[in-house]
Formats: sequence, structure tokens, C-alpha cells
Amino acid sequence: MTDQSPPIADFQLITRAGDEAGQKTTYGIPLAVLAELTHRCPLQCPYCSNPLEMEVASAELTTAEWCRVMDELAEIGVLQIHFSGGEPAVRKDLVDLVRHATQVGLYSNLITSAVMLTKARLQDLADAGLCHVQISVQGSESIVADRVGRFKNGHVKKLQVAAWTREVGLPLTINAVMHRQNLHQLPEIIDMAVALDADRLEVANVQYYGWALKNREALIPTFAQVETTNQIVAEAQDRLAGILDIDYVVPDYYAQRPKQCMGGWGRQFFNISPSGKVLPCHAAESITGMEFDSVRGNKSIRWIWDNSEAFNKYRGTGWMPEPCQSCELKEVDFGGCRCQAFALTGSAGNTDPACAKSDLHAQIFARATTESAEAQDRFIYRNFAGGAVEAEEL
Ligand code: SF4
Ligand code: SF4
Repeated sequence: MTDQSPPIADFQLITRAGDEAGQKTTYGIPLAVLAELTHRCPLQCPYCSNPLEMEVASAELTTAEWCRVMDELAEIGVLQIHFSGGEPAVRKDLVDLVRHATQVGLYSNLITSAVMLTKARLQDLADAGLCHVQISVQGSESIVADRVGRFKNGHVKKLQVAAWTREVGLPLTINAVMHRQNLHQLPEIIDMAVALDADRLEVANVQYYGWALKNREALIPTFAQVETTNQIVAEAQDRLAGILDIDYVVPDYYAQRPKQCMGGWGRQFFNISPSGKVLPCHAAESITGMEFDSVRGNKSIRWIWDNSEAFNKYRGTGWMPEPCQSCELKEVDFGGCRCQAFALTGSAGNTDPACAKSDLHAQIFARATTESAEAQDRFIYRNFAGGAVEAEEL
């Protein structure tokens, strides 16, 4: 499941400090890595952060290759592995991969749409040493959620798997990707996360690249929705302190300053794609013209992190154009999101237009306002054939 996680927002970004004053900046290897085991998924979410051109099953790393990758990750000091996708449970070897992660000392998290899990398989995963489960939801009730994911009875199945997750003793995070067509259900989603005994709820607004960019007109919230959401989240964070941690990602197009995407390009994060490409961000392949090294090549992961062209291209602050270069916040947000800059300006080397200092910001804000008001609600569902337009009546 690579629900926007995006975001990541999918998990805590943690890293070792590597900066030393007066010396060439070096970056310690991240403590957590996202392993995208596959792009296959039974759901077809219109905001999926997988690339438009997804990798087919025959290109995926084998069990032995993933095990070798995990050996290497553990050797270089990575502590956590987050199994994601696509839907990682599509892989028949998931339990074996979790077991190997445990054997080499990696903390493991499963980021899943949940619909392919049974209680027996969850128990096998727990017995293999799985440490945490993160389940995505598309709404608070089937009529909305099953339409967004285009998967019949998916919502009911997710609730069942969430309950099993707690029954087998695993901690649970609920990941809710929010957009114009499900934001009205946020209060019920918060109640649902409490009822499911989740430890954490991620309220992640859609980030617009890849599939979500293709579906922006159908997903972008109104400004009024965003203001209401801010209030709902703030109230729930206070009310549920000590009961449910709520993380919140504000939608970029209505922000004044961009988010510190991935903690800064090549500073705190990398992920490995199904075919073994080592990426600075799970959406980095949306930037055309960049080459990414693979674990299948003859270079080590450590070498790729330290030396590869893709990681070094937007690292630090030296690459920045104005207004970022002379901005006092350049070490705070690192110029925002490179994928968004590419999607909206055609160059990943530009300031993220989510920033109010960007010449394009007003235009982006106006476009979001117009598109959200037009309320073109039909989705283009994610699939391997380039997308399927939602029928008028499902
Ligand atoms: S289609 Fe939906 S559930 Fe599947 S990987 Fe994409 S966002 Fe996750
Ligand atoms: S100008 Fe650049 S560094 Fe400054 S706030 Fe905007 S995006 Fe961040």
C-alpha cells in the first residue's frame, strides 16, 4: 500500500545527524527504509502514489534478492523496514521476508490495504516477528470507501483485519488519505480509529503527483473544507491526547509554506522500488529524465546513498534557485517537494509552488479553488493499463 504516504507521512522519518560545521556535509544512513515489494494491488485508488508506469510482477526482486538487501541494510545500520507496495500481501513470500527482517534485527512494519489478509496469515506474520501494522482506509463507510478504492466489500474487510491485528497483539496505525470526496467523513474516521483501538491515525491529504495529479480535479478539496479539517483535527488531537495520536498533513496547494518533503531530498529517507531502484522519495520516478541506481547493479546501497547522481542532485541547499537561495527558511523546508515542483513547473529544480514566495503560488491557489468548485467527481482509477475512467453509475 503506498497510500500517499506518503506518503509517505507513512512513518516516522528518523535519521542520524551527519552535518559538521565547516566540512563537506555528509548524511548518515537513514534509520528507516521503505521497501516497496510490488506495485500489484487489488485496489485502484485514484490518488495512489505508485508511478503511472508501474512495474510488472516479473520485474520484482525475488525473495533471495530482498533477503540480500535486508542483510545489507542491517549491516550499514538501518534499523527499521517498512514493507509497502502496491499491496505487500500480494507477495506469497511476505511471511518469509518478515522473518528474515527479524533474523537480521530489523524492526518491521506492514503498510497494507488489508483486503488480502486472513487472521491466520496475520498470526503467521506476528509469529515471524512483525512489529506493527498500518492499514489504509478510504472513508468511514462502505459506500464511499469501496467506491474510492474500487473494491467491493473492501471497507468491511479492513475493519475485520484491523480487529484481528489487535487480537494477535500487534500495534495498529490507521492511515486515512483525505480529499474533497471523503473529507466530510473525517469525524467518523476519527471515531472509527478509536473504536478499532488504533494507536495512531494519519490524516494525510492527497499530494498531487502521479495518479493523484491525473485525478486532481476529482480530489482537490475546497478551501472551506481545509479550514474545517484543520479545526476538526486540532479539536480531536486535544480531546484524544493519550488515547490516539493523530498526525496531520496539510494540503499543499492552500499552504503558505511547503512541507519539508521527506525531510529534505537525500537527507533522511530512501526507498527501494519493486525492481530494486533506490529512490530518494517514493514518488521520485514521476520526475522524468532522472536515472536511479538499482540494488541489482554492482554498487552497494551505501555507495548509492553517498554518491549517486540522483541523491546528490537536490541534496542540501547548493542547488537552490531564488527565492530559496537567499531565504532564511532554506534549511527548514529545503525548498519543498521536488516532485511537486516538477509536476507544477516542469522542472524539479524550481521552488515548490506551494510556497507563497514562488511566482506561481497565486496561480496554483487559484487553480485549486476553481477545480474544487467545478466538482468534476469522476475518478480515473489506477491500473496497469494506464487508468480506467469511472462509469457514470457504478
Ligand atoms: S491502489 Fe490504493 S491501496 Fe493499492 S497501493 Fe495504491 S493507494 Fe495503496
Ligand atoms: S522560498 Fe524556498 S526556502 Fe524559502 S520558504 Fe519558500 S520554498 Fe522554503
